[in-house]
Amino acid sequence: MNITVIGTGYVGLVSGVCYAEIGNKVTCVDKDENKIKLLNRGGIPIYEPGLQELLMVNADAGKLTFTTDLESAVRSADLVIIAVGTPPLPSGEADLRYIEGAVREVASSIHGYTIVAVKSTVPVGTNDRVRQIIAEGTTQEFDVVSVPEFLREGSAVKDTLNPDRIVIGADNKRAADILVELHIPLTEEIVVTDIRSAEMIKYASNAFLATKISFINEIANICEKMGADVGEVAKGMGLDRRIGPAFLKAGIGYGGSCFPKDTKALIQIAGNVEYDFKLLKSVVEVNQTQRWGVIDKLYRALGSLSGRKIAIWGLAFKPGTDDVREAPAIEIIEKLIELGATPKVYDPVAMDNFRELMDHPSISWCLNEWDAVSGCDAVCLLTEWEEFCNIDLHKVEQLMARPVMVDGRNVFGAEQIKQTSIAYYPVGRPPINDKIEEIV
Ligand code: NAD
Repeated sequence: MNITVIGTGYVGLVSGVCYAEIGNKVTCVDKDENKIKLLNRGGIPIYEPGLQELLMVNADAGKLTFTTDLESAVRSADLVIIAVGTPPLPSGEADLRYIEGAVREVASSIHGYTIVAVKSTVPVGTNDRVRQIIAEGTTQEFDVVSVPEFLREGSAVKDTLNPDRIVIGADNKRAADILVELHIPLTEEIVVTDIRSAEMIKYASNAFLATKISFINEIANICEKMGADVGEVAKGMGLDRRIGPAFLKAGIGYGGSCFPKDTKALIQIAGNVEYDFKLLKSVVEVNQTQRWGVIDKLYRALGSLSGRKIAIWGLAFKPGTDDVREAPAIEIIEKLIELGATPKVYDPVAMDNFRELMDHPSISWCLNEWDAVSGCDAVCLLTEWEEFCNIDLHKVEQLMARPVMVDGRNVFGAEQIKQTSIAYYPVGRPPINDKIEEIV
């Protein structure tokens, strides 16, 4: 099948590469000339394990091309996939201007029967609007389908080639059958449904996962006050098949380009039909306050934070990606600066993206994890990159001015820490070597 993907971000690029990998001829379009130039040179604009290798193989085989010329890419396509961003407006609602802009351009370029599939996460009812815009811009035959995307950054290639399920929202059999056939090489779990339900499945799935995270974070906060261990609690809960172990890892809350925006958008979507989604509002609020646990623990260990050097391990919103959108690190670092501390930051892949977002003179940009902890009063582990999880804690302890660690991702076990003198503050688990009086 001839497929054109509009938008070569995390979703569009990975989808385009993977559709080529399963035997299609794919053209990826972006209006960002620099991205397309880089892709045409064999580079990739994002960090995503396994993507570059797969891209090269398929580009070399002539199955994958990149262009800024939307019109000719759409003209020759049987299927056009829209994968542009839907960032949040200040109200929390999804900003649909990129979708509408892309769809208008697509409408004036389609030639012969074309399916337009929307992969971007869009509020329920948006695909009706997409259909209307295309109908206004063309006399050609077309169908609109909703194919929401569920990939996770950091394992996007794996997720796309081995999805748990594919959801296809269509209002006619011809388009649905073509989309089913396209995805059969990936999975047999294909849910064909109406368009509005498909749009809702995406938001409901992300809202549910966010709810699990905020739930376990609240349990963690209670565990801290009661002397229980949230790791043990989550293990005991997760073995119940009705609950399952996924997304029961306590920490500093979710971030990234999806959960924060999709939860807020669903609250707005509900509000638009006069439904007050109380549960989801609490999930968002709990997530927002969860990150301040890091600051509270620093206070507990160090007293005043003014003039303190605080190492930050990890800036990306999770390991395996360079994406820093809505990363908890942003607000934590802002708060440290406000309190007069010097954050010494390091992330194995997200330094450039973070610097673009926040190039504050108080931030010290470090060369590696050792440089970051050197001479520091405390280290905060905010992203569980493997190199932090496997670190030599004795060496860390020696390099620091004060051996204090706030572990926002609970990566170290009590036994490991007990072999050191590090004052250790995890989430929802008892602190270790909590020598608060000596240090303050
Ligand atoms: P992104 O911001 O990384 O990429 C969007 C790309 O679209 C950009 O490169 C931009 O230049 C391009 N673009 C915008 N308008 C265009 C136009 N008219 N023509 C050509 N290109 C255009 O976005 P993303 O993270 O890939 O997300 C895309 C959508 O997928 C969003 O709706 C998001 O919610 C959803 N989604 C994202 C993820 C994820 O993990 N990132 C997962 C599932 C779903």
